Amino acid sequence: MIKKDYIPVSAAAALVLALCFAALFLSHDDLAGASDEMQHFMVFEDVSQNYDLATVSDPAFAGQFYSYADADLSLGVSASVFWIRFPLPDAAAIAAGDGVLELANPGISWIRLYFPIETDGRLHYIEKTGGQCRRPVLHDVWSTDWAFAVPANYAAGQDVFLQVKSISALRLPVVFWSVKDFSRFLIRENFFYGLFYGVLLAMLLYNLFIAFALRDRTYSFYVCYMFFMLLYQLDTHGHLALWLQWPPGIYNVLFWLGLTAAFVFSILFSTSFLQLHKTSRVYTRLVKGLLAMALLFGLLGLVGLDLWANLLSRVLGLLETFMFLVLAGLRWRQGFKPALFYLIAWGTLAMGILIWILSPSRIQSEQLLMVCTAMESILLSLALSDRFKTLQSKEVTLLRNVHYYHDLSLLDELTGLYNRRAMEMRVPQEITQALLHGQPLSFAIMDIDFFKKYNDTYGHWAGDQVLKRFSKILSAMVQPPQTAFRFGGEEFVVLLPEMSPERGFILVDQIRRQLASERFIGPDQVPVRVTVSGGITGFQSTDSLMTLLQRADQALYRAKDAGRNRILMSREE
Ligand code: GH3
Ligand code: MG
Ligand code: MG
Repeated sequence: MIKKDYIPVSAAAALVLALCFAALFLSHDDLAGASDEMQHFMVFEDVSQNYDLATVSDPAFAGQFYSYADADLSLGVSASVFWIRFPLPDAAAIAAGDGVLELANPGISWIRLYFPIETDGRLHYIEKTGGQCRRPVLHDVWSTDWAFAVPANYAAGQDVFLQVKSISALRLPVVFWSVKDFSRFLIRENFFYGLFYGVLLAMLLYNLFIAFALRDRTYSFYVCYMFFMLLYQLDTHGHLALWLQWPPGIYNVLFWLGLTAAFVFSILFSTSFLQLHKTSRVYTRLVKGLLAMALLFGLLGLVGLDLWANLLSRVLGLLETFMFLVLAGLRWRQGFKPALFYLIAWGTLAMGILIWILSPSRIQSEQLLMVCTAMESILLSLALSDRFKTLQSKEVTLLRNVHYYHDLSLLDELTGLYNRRAMEMRVPQEITQALLHGQPLSFAIMDIDFFKKYNDTYGHWAGDQVLKRFSKILSAMVQPPQTAFRFGGEEFVVLLPEMSPERGFILVDQIRRQLASERFIGPDQVPVRVTVSGGITGFQSTDSLMTLLQRADQALYRAKDAGRNRILMSREE
């Protein structure tokens, strides 16, 4: 399936994949070696959103918390506020002012963290808040996650309280780092992000040029999809906020805008790529349904019904992935070859999404999803070029067929000369040219003498041989722009552009003499001669095909009357 042209692209894709996995491996190494993922969470769901720190930190309230054993906090999509308490490890590092607590999800809308501090034997809490933004709290480190420096006077053994609320799924890995390890981890993570955005941007720009050059709809949809995908990724990983530092509300708008548009253009792209409009109306309706859903969740998100928008976008994500996988499979089975590449690309993304949903470990699965997204963008770009080639070669074949049948309809089957229809098309063109350039044009009709008798005597097949031989003589002696046509039966027309009737007469008479000089062998092996008569006329400015035919025909009849085997000029010359 992989053709020669794809080898460099495939090699590039493999390289990107290798680099991504290397980055994945490196960041994983750091996580395992030098950080602690918290394990002992106690969770309290505050449905009414009325509780404050004083209440929940009261020892009497401890029984309201339930134990959450998993390393990865994953509390689903909910409108509730969650209170989470847990102790920090490694008191020595904290005492040295070297502790960082990372809440590794830039998508969380709202976080408040309370560190326990002991002064004069009395316990109180320092509140650290990011408010409703995704900006990092720890300065000097380039991070998109929530990262809090742990105060040096942290009361060892006491619980940290975390208060969170989010429109997106409350999936919140909590990781404790030393500053040095955290910085190292971030450098590697940023390298990975650079690679990821680089691939998306490269595919976006590369295909943008092609879209401009080809003015192709499918390419344009792909470019729009890539653009909004990039916007969405930059926003959801917190990079837009980190770079632009605009008011927090804008990122929410950009999030829903990016996600909705990415959905809409991926649907339009897939429909156009798989040529669904050409197949069945049912598909078109399904696609319209998906588009309506995408616009609906976008609208819900923009008017602030984030929770519903988020739920709907998840449903749509699963539905769209599943539906286009099935449709691509169907199209492939119907014989639409480019659907295979599409299937591989979409399948790669679907795999990433599935692992992301199912995997318990956050970093690998999230980065794997990004690797799959990057791979999808490369594979789709590959699929696009494959599709373009297939459609182009189809078009070339179609065009060739059209030319073939067009030519066929203008040729005479027996002799291979142009037929009467070709003549009727050609003569008006030559008349126009003659008028335009003031050039002469002559028109001759030739008719084989006593051909009926020849047929009657030697048979129809022998008659055919005469027609073929005469056509060969015509083909040899009549050179472009002059053209010979089989007008019908044993009658032929010779069209002579750029030739006066006097010069035309010489040529046509040579043809007559050539036929007369040929010998045909009859059934009894006796040589037989065949002659031809003709009439020729010159073009006059008021002439049409009909008047040319009439005058040449009259001259032909006179030639027959005069004893045949001769060419006569029409009386008007
Ligand atoms: P004239 O010298 O006056 O032209 O006499 P003619 O017999 O050639 O004239 P006429 O038009 O009466 O006869 C033409 C004959 O050409 C009649 C027909 O049998 C024959 N003919 C027409 N088309 C074909 C063909 O494709 N193959 C053969 N073998 N004969 C054909
Ligand atoms: Mg005839
Ligand atoms: Mg004849």
